[in-house]
Amino acid sequence: TLTAGVVAVQGDVAEHAAAIERACAARGRDVTVREVRHSGVIPGCDLLAVPGGESTTISRFVHREGLADEIRAHVDAGKPLFATCAGLILVSQDAGDDRVNELGLLDVTVERNAFGRQRDSFEAALDVDGLDEPFPAVFIRAPAIDAVGDAAVIARVDGRPVAVRQGPILGTAFHPELTADDRLHERAFFGSEADAAPTVSAGSGEGVS
Ligand code: GLN
Repeated sequence: TLTAGVVAVQGDVAEHAAAIERACAARGRDVTVREVRHSGVIPGCDLLAVPGGESTTISRFVHREGLADEIRAHVDAGKPLFATCAGLILVSQDAGDDRVNELGLLDVTVERNAFGRQRDSFEAALDVDGLDEPFPAVFIRAPAIDAVGDAAVIARVDGRPVAVRQGPILGTAFHPELTADDRLHERAFFGSEADAAPTVSAGSGEGVS
């Protein structure tokens, strides 16, 4: 049985947990999802999600509760991390805001609330590299990704990157947990042939198909 963690400060925690359960079921894997509110949980997790919400609030919480080093160690160990919206902002190199203490795990710069008032929130049928059909992507005061180092861009809106893959990390500016489409949760945790990075296998030595 896999153990999944969802950082549970605020945001779509229950929706992420449900999507993780469906994604694991689709791969024939049992999973226990744990909501992460304090240190000591993440070290026991095979996979981890950092949801959207308010990145300044999530940043404060993650550092106050001693989760930052645990998230870093998780990624250093090559375990999958799915960072969505504010979660993406948190794990970036630079969010251009002093109130966000970035973890610097994903080699990107982000611009918060990048899509402006007219398009504060919107849904787009998004072409994503490696997916056969467009993904129904829900954007809510979403960031755009401004500079990309080692991270591979797998989707764009108006030419701006909105989904990236780097090693064990999948980052999206939108909210895949808000739709019934679990393809990106599956990809985050079980990899994809489309990703340049090697497929990360969740779980120890059990093998993931
Ligand atoms: N606008 C939020 C921020 O900058 C992110 C929005 C979200 O996670 N839906 O923190």
